[in-house]
Amino acid sequence: MQHFPDARSVVRALAPDEPVILNRPHAAARAARFFVEKFPGKSLYAVKANPSPDLFRILWDNGVTHYDVASIAEVRLTRSVLPDATLCFMHPVKSRGAIREAYIEHGVKTFSLDSSEELAKIVEATSDADGNPATDLRLCVRLRVSSEHAALSLASKFGCDLTEAPALLQETRQYADWLGVCFHVGSQAMSPFAYVQALDRTRAAIAEASVVIDMIDVGGGFPSVYPGMEPPPLEDYFTIIHQHFYALPIAYNAELWCEPGRALCAEYSSLVVKVEKRRGEELYINDGAYGALFDAAHVDWKFPVRPMEDDLIKPEMDFAFYGPTCDDADYMPGPFSLPEDIQAGDYIEIGMLGAYGAAMKTDFNGFGSAERIIVEDEPMASLYDGSRTRPAADNVVSLR
Ligand SMILES: *Cc1c(COP(=O)(O)O)cnc(C)c1O
Repeated sequence: MQHFPDARSVVRALAPDEPVILNRPHAAARAARFFVEKFPGKSLYAVKANPSPDLFRILWDNGVTHYDVASIAEVRLTRSVLPDATLCFMHPVKSRGAIREAYIEHGVKTFSLDSSEELAKIVEATSDADGNPATDLRLCVRLRVSSEHAALSLASKFGCDLTEAPALLQETRQYADWLGVCFHVGSQAMSPFAYVQALDRTRAAIAEASVVIDMIDVGGGFPSVYPGMEPPPLEDYFTIIHQHFYALPIAYNAELWCEPGRALCAEYSSLVVKVEKRRGEELYINDGAYGALFDAAHVDWKFPVRPMEDDLIKPEMDFAFYGPTCDDADYMPGPFSLPEDIQAGDYIEIGMLGAYGAAMKTDFNGFGSAERIIVEDEPMASLYDGSRTRPAADNVVSLR
C-alpha cells in the first residue's frame, strides 16, 4: 500500500478519479491499546464493523486477542488472518452447518443464543458421532435490553425477555462448561447509563435463575465522535460498567467482556471523494449510499468533511450530497459545511468512516472500486488523543 502524509498530498499526487480510502494504522493501534489497557476486562473486536485483514493485524499486534464474529464467512476470514485468535460466534441465530464448521474446523467454543431452539441447534451441531454433547462449550444467553441511549437501535431483533431469561439460563447451564450473559445496548450509545440499565436487567435475570454465571459481556455500543455527537469520555463508561459488574451475584472469578466495533475502528479510515457536479446547494460526489456513505444516506449520519483545495476563500455554507448511482435514494442530506465557492473538480475528505463505512461498499451500478492508501496525519476527530477528559461527575449527557 502507498504511504502519504495526509489527504491533501494524496489529491496533489494522484488527482484520483475514483474515491480513495485513507487508512490510519496508528489511530486503530491507539484505540486498541486504549481498550486493552483501560477496559476492566477483555475486549473483543466486533468484526462486522470493518472486516479488513490489515485492521485485524493492527488490533492483534496491539493486544486484541478475541474476535466477535457473526457469520461463517467472518469465522473463516478472521481465522485465516489470525490463526491464534479466539473467535466467539456471537450472532444469536446461526445455521447448523455454520455452528458445526466453526466448532470442528476453526476451534470456536463460544456461542451466543436467545432461545431454546438455538440452544438445541448448538448442542446437536457440536455433539460427537455417538451423539454425546460437547463438554467444552462456552455459551452466552443474549438478553434484550433498551436501545434508548443509542443512535442506532439493536433492541428489537435479538435477545430474550426478562420473563424468558431465567428458564433459558437454567437450561443452557446444563450444556455449558462456562455460562455467560450478553447484551447490546445499541450502537453509538451516547450515555454510560445505557450499560447501567442493561446490567440492572442482567441482575434481575440472574437472581431469578439462580445459576452460576461465569461471564458478563456488555457488548458493543461504545461511541465515537461525529459532528453533533460528542460523547462523554470512554473512561466514564468503563468505570460505571466496572462498578455495576462487581455488584452482580456471579462467580467470584467471573470475567467481564465487551465487544466494541465502532469505537475500535471509526478513526481508522477516511475517504477522499471528487465533486463531479454542483447544482446550487447540492454536490454530486463519486461515493454514496451504496458505497462507504451508507449511514449518511440511510440514517442521516453526519460525518466531518473538509475541502482539499487551497484556493477556496469564501465562508462555509451547508451542502447536501448526491452519490454516483442513478437513483434518487443515493442522497445524503447532511448538512455538510464546505466553502461557498466549492465546485466540480474539487476534492473533499470525509472523516470517521473506519466503522460501518469502508465495510459497506458495494459494486452497485459499477461504482464499487476504491484504492486504499496509508496516511500518517491525525483522524478528523479522536477519542484517544488525550483531548477528551471531563470530571466524572459530569458524565451523563442528554439524549439526542
Ligand atoms: C454490531 C455488534 C457489535 C459492535 O457494535 P458497535 O456498536 O459497533 O460497538 C458487538 N456485538 C454484537 C453482537 C454486534 O451485533
